[in-house]
Amino acid sequence: MGEILVTRSSMPAFDKYCEEIKSLWDSHWLTNMGVKHQEFQSVLESYLGISHVTLYANGHLALENAIAAFHLPEGGEVITTPFTFASTTHAIVRNKLIPVFCDINEDDYTIDVGKMESLITDQTVAIVPVHVYGNLCNVEEIERIANKYGLKVIYDAAHAFAVKYKGISSACFGDAAMFSFHATKVFHTIEGGAVCYRNDKWVQLLNDMKNFGIHGPEEVAYIGGNAKMNEFQAAMGLCNMRYLDEEISKRKKASEYYKKRLSGTAGIKLSKIPEEVESNYAYFPVVFEDYKYTRNEILNKLKEHGIGARKYFFPLTNSFECYRNYPTAGTEKTPVAQHIALRVLTLPLYADLSFEDIDKICNIILGDEDEL
Ligand SMILES: *Cc1c(COP(=O)(O)O)cnc(C)c1O
Repeated sequence: MGEILVTRSSMPAFDKYCEEIKSLWDSHWLTNMGVKHQEFQSVLESYLGISHVTLYANGHLALENAIAAFHLPEGGEVITTPFTFASTTHAIVRNKLIPVFCDINEDDYTIDVGKMESLITDQTVAIVPVHVYGNLCNVEEIERIANKYGLKVIYDAAHAFAVKYKGISSACFGDAAMFSFHATKVFHTIEGGAVCYRNDKWVQLLNDMKNFGIHGPEEVAYIGGNAKMNEFQAAMGLCNMRYLDEEISKRKKASEYYKKRLSGTAGIKLSKIPEEVESNYAYFPVVFEDYKYTRNEILNKLKEHGIGARKYFFPLTNSFECYRNYPTAGTEKTPVAQHIALRVLTLPLYADLSFEDIDKICNIILGDEDEL
């Protein structure tokens, strides 16, 4: 049996993608907000039920641009989580803002809303929470706190495309939400990303900012970079949208099978998704807590059998070498996040992962290697 990787990008049928990009050979229009870009944008706006979507070359630049668009004062403090990918914290710091790390909760690893208010000072300007693993943060409580203190909320929703809370899309919470369409995500455009928002004034601003700040043929209004999504990416998005429901339902079946095999085992903790949340089954995280094997032992056992799992998220972003001089850094300030980061493993999960492979993975985890 071959290797089982932690993830595997879903591809549309080859001829469907060729069909989608064929018109580009007629138009020779390959980027700069072409026909595919416009079509993909409006498909997303109606699918997500949000007034505006701006597309990007990748999720990171989408988040950086979304934060920049608020023109927050330099040195302002941003409440965020260290239990995330490097991108989130970097996007805050690259905007000359200071990340203030809030701990996470033990059940679903999202930001602990009960610990947020004590971190707010008169320097606090925004909250950048992260939806993790296909589950959502406590969006209602975050909205209440943000309103109470007059803070902007920009969600890193990289893990939460197509996720809903009480029937409302994750795109609709906060002042802005960022999606990543990286190849490893549930839905992808090879590389790509988007910012979703309701503020009409932002449409022109974000479109200018992602194109060098060029506002008109002879007017450069902002010190913008280049973060445009090209036509081939948008075409991949249009194709993959047609498979999205199928993708999620296959992931759901695989996740449920994992759950059936692993739940009820002492020392193995699976994450809890609240009933009001409709997940996209982006990842399958498992926390090993006083289990007969440690997280690292499981990782190595799986590796010996050609199975890739991932310590995700580890290390915490507040322990990164590049932040060692930040007074707000340090994992001792976020003990729950550190506890989870030392014990969590995300298991292989993708649409075409077979039950046979899941059995193999679970047998290794449970120590029933004889059954392999
Ligand atoms: C993937 C990811 C990003 C970055 O997205 P890219 O499209 O890879 O730039 C940011 N935050 C989180 C939580 C992610 O998982």
